[in-house]
This record gives sequence, C-alpha cells and structure tokens, in this order.
Amino acid sequence: MKAILVIADGLGGRPTDTGGRTCLEAARTPHLDALAAGGALGLVDPIGPGVRPGSDTAHLSLLGYDPFTLYTGRGVFECLGIGLDVQAGDVCFRANFATVEARDAGLVVIDRRAGRIESGQDELAAALNKIRLEEVPGVSFQFRASTQHRGALLLRGESLSRYVTENDPHGAGELALRFEPEPGHEDEAALRTAAALNEFAERSHAALRDHPVNRRRVENGEPPANFVLARGAADCPNIPSIKSVYGVRGAVIAGGALYRGVALACGMTTIDVPGATGGLDTDLDAKARAAIDALDEFDYVFVHVKGADNAGHDQDAAAKTAFIERIDSELVGPLVERLDWNATHLAFTGDHTTPVDYGDHTVEPVPVLYVGPSVARDETTSYGEREAGRGGLGRFSGRVLPILLGYSNWAPKFGS
Ligand code: ZN
Ligand code: ZN
Repeated sequence: MKAILVIADGLGGRPTDTGGRTCLEAARTPHLDALAAGGALGLVDPIGPGVRPGSDTAHLSLLGYDPFTLYTGRGVFECLGIGLDVQAGDVCFRANFATVEARDAGLVVIDRRAGRIESGQDELAAALNKIRLEEVPGVSFQFRASTQHRGALLLRGESLSRYVTENDPHGAGELALRFEPEPGHEDEAALRTAAALNEFAERSHAALRDHPVNRRRVENGEPPANFVLARGAADCPNIPSIKSVYGVRGAVIAGGALYRGVALACGMTTIDVPGATGGLDTDLDAKARAAIDALDEFDYVFVHVKGADNAGHDQDAAAKTAFIERIDSELVGPLVERLDWNATHLAFTGDHTTPVDYGDHTVEPVPVLYVGPSVARDETTSYGEREAGRGGLGRFSGRVLPILLGYSNWAPKFGS
C-alpha cells in the first residue's frame, strides 16, 4: 500500500467569494470531481470547530498532533524548513531583511521587507554570520536567507528562553522595537536571550549598513537591506515522529519553508523540487512527478501547495479560482493518471478557509476527500464545500493523515 496526502493551503472559501459560489465551487475541477465520485467526502475542522487556524497549527493538527500541547511558535518550523540544524535548547525565529534609517530616537523601520529584495541575500547572510556576540557569554547564532526578504535566525547557548518579544513594529515609520522578556517571564534566561538578540540587532545593522550589496541597492534607488527583524520565537517542540507512531516512512514536497519545517519536525524527509516556489507561479506538474517518483521509495508522500492561500490573502477571486483549476489539471490530473489505484489511498484537503472577501483565515471547515481501495464510496460527485457537507465522512476535527494511514492498515491499535 501507498498513501498520498495533498494539502492545498487556504483552499476553503465562502459563497461571497464569487457572488454565490466559493472559488472552489466556481473552479472547473474535473479530476477532483471524478475522485469524489469514486471516493468519499467530508468536512474537516482543521484544528476544531470554531478554532481559527494558523497554517502551522493547522498542519500539526491535520498530521495528527495536538497543537494546543505541542506548538511552541512558528520560528522553529521556519528554521527547520530553511535547513538549519535545530537542537534542543535553541531558540528559533522567522526573520526579515528590512530597511531602517538612523534617527535621533533610534532606528526607524522604512520598509519591513527591504523592497522585497531579490538578489544578494546570501552575501548579506554571510556578513551577518561573521558577527560574534560578546555581551552574553556562550551564545551564538546562525542566520540563513530564503526567498526575497525572508530568512530564519537561530540562537544557541546555555539556558535561553523562547519567552521573548520581537523587534518588528509591524508598521513602516515606526521605531524598531527592543527585544524584552515576555510579561510574566522576566527570568534570567529570558533576560539573557533578549540581551543577545538586542546585540545581534545592533551589530547586524552595523554589518549590513555599508555592505557592497546595499551600496549597489542605494545607487539603484532600491531600499537597502540594512536590518534584521525577528519574530515568532520558538524552541524545539517534542513531537514523536510519524515513523515511531505508525511505522511508515514519509516524504514532504513543499515550496514554503514553513511546511517543510512542520513535516521535518514530524519526521518526514524533504524532497526538493526545482520550480516549487511556494507561490502562484509554482511548477505543479514537477511536484506531481516528484510525488509519484517518491512513492517508489517512501510509504506515503505529503504534497503541499500554497498558491490558493496567497490569492485569498490578496483578495483576488479570479486568481484563486484559476489556481485551483491549475491544481486540478497540473497536479491531480497526473496523479489520477499515474498512481496505482489498486494499492494507493489519496486524501485531498485544505489547511483552512481563506475567503477572498475577508483576506485572512476563518473558522469554517474545509472539504476533505478520501479515495482508494479501502474507502467506501458515498453519493457525492463533485469536490466543493457544499457537496462535502453531504458526504459520507461527515464532519471531524484534524487527523487527516492518521485516517489516511488507517485506510492502509498502518494505524496502531489503542488498547487491546
Ligand atoms: Zn495555511
Ligand atoms: Zn494564509
């Protein structure tokens, strides 16, 4: 048996998206409709009814974990997904190159994304990684750049704390904040961590200010990437691997670092697919081919597709509908054609609803589809929110992967 889980980020929508129908309902999805006709549908509350999910917490829950007890913050998944070697005790952040201007009151954030910088980030990261922190003995850090202004920062040393605030003011024209212990956590570890972070922030500005990459940017009229904003402090969560629970080996195919990071934290192996960007321009066909190939080596594969969520945040119904149609033709189509349907179970769902009229995640459940030899077919014939509400699987919370693995008889028995 083999299993494949596809999560389309932000897939769900509201009837207000396109004047009566959700983007998913409006999209032409012949392959998903055929799978629905051959399998069964239901609605899944990614975390639980009425819980408004983040992508990281939703993924943990869909993969079978309880985010309320395990989740420590986003930063650790960003660090893992970007390829940093996260160890117990490290404190991890998601980071941004930003543009600041030195004024009398301090460093003012001019552009939180440094003009969405497109080149030179690795050179800037190399300059950062030459910094040696001195204020707090025994604390070191690693910084790595990913796409555009994005990156990850990892702090390592004795007795650090994840209970520190961020330096991102979340608005242009505002002063960069100082890192502080979170209220209620003013202990020695949080004070050490904040001190090390404040030294890093100061020295990063000194290291980047006159860097050749930034001199060129200024000459070209682009905002210099002369500061690092860090947020989402987290330490390594204690997540038992899927292998240890179910005895099966899995791989993840995802463009976005966050999703690779969540899957790595759950013990999956990452497969890099050139052209998988984590955006609307991603190469879905390449992801389909990589997933099919990976099933030769792995028991199950998790494929993450981000674009629909981006279009939802951009409040662009046409882009969201078009991307869902691309998922159907370029990802699901090749899977339908090439998977061995006598020996494969597939689940297809979203990690939450991102309606275009709201432009952010909302609490509504998302459709979930299961198909394969063990799945009892229901009466549904198309893949969409309302049709899923009539599906044979009813409505449940999270745990889409454990249910999928259960169809392949890989679930351990609870009790005797
Ligand atoms: Zn999401
Ligand atoms: Zn989102």
